[in-house]
Amino acid sequence: MQTMVCCPDCHEKTRKKIFVDDRGNSFWACEKCGTVHEDYMWYIIASEKMAGLKDNLSKINFEGYFMIPTGIEYIGIAIANGQNETDEFPDRIECMKWLASKQREGVESSEQEEMFEVYYLDVYPDECGWTENRRVFLGNLAVSQTGDSIESGIMDAMLRFKYRDFRRQVRALTTKDPDKVYIEDCGEWFEIGEVDGRKPVYMILPAEGAI
Ligand SMILES: [Zn+2]
Repeated sequence: MQTMVCCPDCHEKTRKKIFVDDRGNSFWACEKCGTVHEDYMWYIIASEKMAGLKDNLSKINFEGYFMIPTGIEYIGIAIANGQNETDEFPDRIECMKWLASKQREGVESSEQEEMFEVYYLDVYPDECGWTENRRVFLGNLAVSQTGDSIESGIMDAMLRFKYRDFRRQVRALTTKDPDKVYIEDCGEWFEIGEVDGRKPVYMILPAEGAI
């Protein structure tokens, strides 16, 4: 979900933190002009059939807030930042309030992330080692800044990162075993490659102007 939005009143960029009142109205307040905006599109009311998909939802790079009315209770599912949390509530509004609290946590944790762009490097060997033939943009990578180092944050994010080739979803990394994969700080970017032959595979560039 988009955490930064353009306020329809003042047209400034603001964070969007959802609050739910006791009647089940959901709204967010612009942090620039203070105008309160109602919003009912921030969560999805899903069927029980979809609940069976929730494990699959968390495996792809997906973010969303779901409420599943079963007839007996309300199941809330919050998927954000690679986390998948589920809770059950007897009451619809309690479920909405819980989902909104997860949405606000998601907004706050996304502020501790740095955005990068991931490129696949097509390289060939020559007398200097490896020379870049071309690079292919694969997608954006949100890297948590709360870990030990930016390198370990990139490796953890790359373990979750998937991209689509011409027929399927491909996992960029299946291991961060230092005997197999290296990451190197190249100043302006990071390089990830195979230890064997020290062959570069991915280039991780800071995203320009990302919010
Ligand atoms: Zn505003």
